[in-house]
Amino acid sequence: MPIGVLALQGDFREHINVLKQLEVETIEVRTIADLAKSKALIIPGGESTVIHNLATSFGLVNPIRDAISSGLPAFGTCAGLIMLADEILDGVPDQTGFGGLDVSVRRNAFGNQLESFEAQLSFEGISDPGIEAAFIRAPIVERVGSGVRVLSELSDGRIVAVRNETVLGISFHPEISGELRVHEYFLGMVG
Ligand code: GLN
Repeated sequence: MPIGVLALQGDFREHINVLKQLEVETIEVRTIADLAKSKALIIPGGESTVIHNLATSFGLVNPIRDAISSGLPAFGTCAGLIMLADEILDGVPDQTGFGGLDVSVRRNAFGNQLESFEAQLSFEGISDPGIEAAFIRAPIVERVGSGVRVLSELSDGRIVAVRNETVLGISFHPEISGELRVHEYFLGMVG
């Protein structure tokens, strides 16, 4: 079965491009039928409020939520992390996502002055050199619940990558910096 990439808004083409470089079969997910064909789901970066509105219009919110809570492996980058968080801070009123990770994530946590930057990060399970990470109006994980492991932090200790058994969420975009190893790490979780 292919790896699904939620293809409603955001940088889903970049994720597909990374998976192609890793010689993995992919499917763009826009319908429940696409979701049913997927052995895992990647939720791209973009704008979480728009992804949520489109997922609502496409009737995908509850099917994706149910699939993830039933164990479908999922990986979200930036807006995708926001969509996977059980609690969203600084969302628009009543903003919700798919959930799946027992974390609280703050949107646009770097404010206006430092909206975008790049960093080299160490990442548990990926050896040197560090991950090339692009942060673009990025969220931060502010609370980590039970069963959630921190995989990467900025040098000041702010949490930027977390996982549980089946769900991986990161604040940054490896898919736009030519970094393949985080996707490889996720494929390891998919098995
Ligand atoms: N700030 C965006 C949001 O709230 C996320 C930005 C991104 O995905 N690069 O959804």
